[in-house]
Amino acid sequence: MTIFEKIIRREIPADIVWEDEDVLAFRDVNPQAPVHVLIVPKRVVPRLAETTEADQALLGKLLLAARAVAEKLDLATSGYRVVINSGPDAGETVPHLHVHVLGKRPLAWPPG
Ligand code: 5GP
Repeated sequence: MTIFEKIIRREIPADIVWEDEDVLAFRDVNPQAPVHVLIVPKRVVPRLAETTEADQALLGKLLLAARAVAEKLDLATSGYRVVINSGPDAGETVPHLHVHVLGKRPLAWPPG
């Protein structure tokens, strides 16, 4: 079981900022920006590379959740970045699909 499944099951604490029946959003324990939230599906999906057409609705929900979190945390006007790391070259460290939402500072491009 990944650390994110334990957070979803409330077996370990997290600073939860948003939730619905399908997804949970909580602050990253090692934030890379003043606002750094992770949005995860409650259903186990390892990574974007392993999603299928059957995950279309869930993937849409994750992006809509990112927008909702950004609005709730006052990022809509200043701007924010949405990131999904899939696989080793992207630096994925937790094999449970997650969307990063980063904001409240200017973010460089291209990413490192
Ligand atoms: P990845 O590198 O896989 O895209 O992102 C994983 C993220 O999970 C990292 O930004 C890391 O800081 C975060 N993370 C790892 N363990 C925990 C934890 O126990 N709690 C929280 N809130 N975030 C975690």
